[in-house]
Amino acid sequence: MQAHGHHLSNSNLGRPDYDTVNSIEPTTIHGDEWWADDEDEEDEDNADEDEEASDDNDYPEDDLMMWPSLPIFTTPRSLLPLLLLSTLTNAFTSLSPAALHSLPKPLPADLDPTNGSILSPILIPRVPGTPGSTKVLQHFQHFFSQSLPSWSLSTQNSTQSTPLSAGKKIPFTNFIATKDPPWAKAGDVGRIVMVAHYDSKVTPEGFIGATDSAVPCAVILWAAKAIDAALTSKWATIAAMEGEEGKKARQKERGVMVLMLDGEEAWESWSDTDSLYGARDLARAWEEQTHPPMSIRKNELGNIDLFVLLDLLGCAAPRIPSYFPTTHWAYKGFAETEERLRKEGLMETGKTGQWFYEKDKDTQGGYWYGGAVQDDHVPFLKRGVEVLHLIPSPFPAVWHTAEDDGDHLDKATVKDWASLTAAWLGGVMGVQEQLGGGKLENKAGLGKRGNVKTEL
Ligand SMILES: [Zn+2]
Repeated sequence: MQAHGHHLSNSNLGRPDYDTVNSIEPTTIHGDEWWADDEDEEDEDNADEDEEASDDNDYPEDDLMMWPSLPIFTTPRSLLPLLLLSTLTNAFTSLSPAALHSLPKPLPADLDPTNGSILSPILIPRVPGTPGSTKVLQHFQHFFSQSLPSWSLSTQNSTQSTPLSAGKKIPFTNFIATKDPPWAKAGDVGRIVMVAHYDSKVTPEGFIGATDSAVPCAVILWAAKAIDAALTSKWATIAAMEGEEGKKARQKERGVMVLMLDGEEAWESWSDTDSLYGARDLARAWEEQTHPPMSIRKNELGNIDLFVLLDLLGCAAPRIPSYFPTTHWAYKGFAETEERLRKEGLMETGKTGQWFYEKDKDTQGGYWYGGAVQDDHVPFLKRGVEVLHLIPSPFPAVWHTAEDDGDHLDKATVKDWASLTAAWLGGVMGVQEQLGGGKLENKAGLGKRGNVKTEL
């Protein structure tokens, strides 16, 4: 099994021009009311950071204002909310054929590599701290403000030195967009988190990283837009429901988050410290963002019901293994959705392909590759977050070469990833009825993570 990190020859390394490094202004992106600006207690928890928080991390005050700074309490939490959660089961119901047909169709105007409004702006070099990186961040912000204005936007920032920065600190900016049920409390809400990295590698010079991971970013944006109206409509209905029925319906709902991570790539050669700059800092920060006592979720990490990481997508005929037994239910959801879309003639790559080929894998036995592929999920997985990793094995032939660009993408595959991801997200968020697909017999949903512990 190939790992995502690999070794580069030092002689090939290009050096970014650090004089052109821009500092990114997070304050142009606005958090919502529960990611409030009070900074009262932000410094009290810096004493016992874990090994991932290196001395290189440096948080300017302005950056911290993007994050809640909640007081740390030592009182034991009530177990009651947790018991309520455990009554939910891990289950996925694919959208019905009628609902699948009513989802929007991915168009070249959205996803064409040359001029698609969602994908093409990402197909530029976007090394952390360079103007290209800032441009792509602005594209994300513009996309949400134009197409998904109900989502709450924020960034999480750090500065860290890298093997190529000669002691200088490079800014890393993670982009976060969230849509929660209108009644949800920050400490209680669970979320499906759709993740990709938006940075590109320093080498080879001019590297675009179309599959790595411009396409995954674009696919996630497109999918979020495709289900947004249905989700808004569903939550309006549930918000108006009265009595015990309304209360129960509201408890079952979860939010959705789009997470675009910075600094996934190694600058020199992949190692625990030269890779995953954005993800490592975010996982550390979220672990420290503790919710008030009596909250169902312990901290910001605890809000993640499922971390769905897309990477290296956009080449023809990907083969996606199921990496983790505890999230195989969600993998199966993709497999079933793929089958249904193909059967309905809704996949441009045809009726007979099968990207999710491990649908029938035995969760009690068999070989699970989880942990063999180093990627942005690692710092989260180490902290107990449930991960669905959508990365092909083998990797695309263009991986980490100059050929990983727009010209080498398979356009039909890109559009099919958008259809498939939107349909899966619609299924897991339970918006079938709002898509005109009829009432669900068993409501889709997942609850507290299972008992099987997943570790690297
Ligand atoms: Zn890469």
